[in-house]
Amino acid sequence: MVGRIPPAKNEPVKSYAPGTPERKTLQAALSKMSEEVRDIPAFVGDREVRGETVDVVMPHDHHHVVGKAHQVNKSDVENAIASAEAARPEWAALPYESRASILLKAADLLTGPYRDRINAATMLGQSKTPHQAEIEAAAELADFWRFNVEYGDQMRREQPLSPDGQWNRTELRPLDGFVFAVSPFNFTAIAGNLPTAPALMGNTVVWKPSPEQMLSASYVMEILLEAGMPRGVINMVAGDPKMIGDTCLSSPKLAGLHFTGSTATFQHLWRTIGNNIDRYVSYPRIVGETGGKDFIFAHPSADVDALACAIVRGGFEYQGQKCSAASRIYMPKSIWGAVKERAVAMIETLRVGDIADFSNFMGAVISQKAFDRISGYVDLANLEGTVHAGGSYDGSKGWFVQPTLVEVSDPKHRLMREEIFGPVVTTWVYDDAQLDEALTLCDEGTAYGLTGGVFAQDRYAVEKVLNRLRGAAGNFYINDKPTGAVVGQQPFGGGRASGTNDKAGSAANLMRWTSVRAIKEVFVPATDYRYPYMGEE
Ligand code: NAD
Repeated sequence: MVGRIPPAKNEPVKSYAPGTPERKTLQAALSKMSEEVRDIPAFVGDREVRGETVDVVMPHDHHHVVGKAHQVNKSDVENAIASAEAARPEWAALPYESRASILLKAADLLTGPYRDRINAATMLGQSKTPHQAEIEAAAELADFWRFNVEYGDQMRREQPLSPDGQWNRTELRPLDGFVFAVSPFNFTAIAGNLPTAPALMGNTVVWKPSPEQMLSASYVMEILLEAGMPRGVINMVAGDPKMIGDTCLSSPKLAGLHFTGSTATFQHLWRTIGNNIDRYVSYPRIVGETGGKDFIFAHPSADVDALACAIVRGGFEYQGQKCSAASRIYMPKSIWGAVKERAVAMIETLRVGDIADFSNFMGAVISQKAFDRISGYVDLANLEGTVHAGGSYDGSKGWFVQPTLVEVSDPKHRLMREEIFGPVVTTWVYDDAQLDEALTLCDEGTAYGLTGGVFAQDRYAVEKVLNRLRGAAGNFYINDKPTGAVVGQQPFGGGRASGTNDKAGSAANLMRWTSVRAIKEVFVPATDYRYPYMGEE
């Protein structure tokens, strides 16, 4: 039976404005969750695995423990692989409608009864404001689940030609083994998408969330199980990343890696797969979305207010910890004075603090390690640049870094080249007459190619920048900040060192988790081997 899939729609984003019912229920969920210490087991086959635990803390109050994540050992990881393999035949044989139904139900559970809990967990565990949690942990994850179901359905309906006398078909088989999904700390939605996109296409998965996202990851797992995801299809393991990675990547049954995280980690995983290539049953599919050094290229015709707002929102929302965060700005001299004045005025009003206080625009950065790295860049900014706003940090209670706007005179300065992954935006000012040189510097300035955008009112300028920076960003924005891609609207991913650009939440991504079988059936087969040209004159 082939059913018709309900058409996907983007989940509406709630406002959490004063007086709204959602504000009240979210505040209640936050209070309740911050008084609990959640027990977070690993999920291996039909077992919940418990062992030594690691504390899950609130980044904005890092002595406050909100969860204890049980760590797996090597034999647990081997069991997770074995469980994925054991679950595979039955899961793969299930009709697409049944697998799809689980994700559609999960999306409804997520945006219905679990909405407050997934948002509260994302706020407490990852230090997101209500808006930053809502747009991704609730809305984007539901969008991933619903749109992937629709894209997978379209893919299986696309069929080859059948001339008279034969019937040609293609079948989207899952891969020949398990998929290893490795997710980053910064988006609950990405964590929920990486294991489920391959699972939708009939694969079974070993999923390793980031240690810094375990609180919300545990709710994602709970929702999937409640939605009917059979045990063993997605096995969630937490623990030593290297041990888990080495164990999964050395299994002959590794059929795919679905990764989002830093460029260095992805390159390490790719290298390991390369070194192991003669062990595998198949050629593992490798999909990775990685780091960025995302730009705004301003033209002298830019709308100054819109540009300043894009710098503030694009650079500092979620403390600059989005792979797409605006991080380097190419600014024409003629408008820099006005842009700087507006941007600095806005930054001075931004409040940084506990995300349970809804007047805050920013929370804390994710960990001590991140705080040390980012504060090092702030020191560098103070030392070698001109800091126009921010420039300070304090990690005593929470890992807080003030939103920092710095100007450098060298367009190849480290602050213009390296991914900082924190609330530091660097500007380099070019002479209006040297637009072409500035475009070359922007294009060639970093190893990355994730997001970027142009601010210009002059249409010729828009076209010029669009063409000149074709390779510089997989997601390009015209008069908008380079963050906030929406599933179904701006398929997301970048090239160069930023990843394989397989566009999360799209048919292109789902295609990587299938191994197509082409079937030709002939109705009246030939019975004589001779061709007409062989006949007698
Ligand atoms: P990270 O590379 O430190 O960690 C990502 C994941 O890899 C985590 O689960 C981590 O535990 C795991 N890991 C680390 N070493 C491993 C190993 N040897 N074997 C197996 N797994 C291993 O990245 P992060 O700090 O969690 O996330 C931030 C990075 O992610 C930034 O660079 C950001 O740009 C990138 N990111 C990219 C996108 C995108 O779509 N391009 C989206 C979100 C984040």
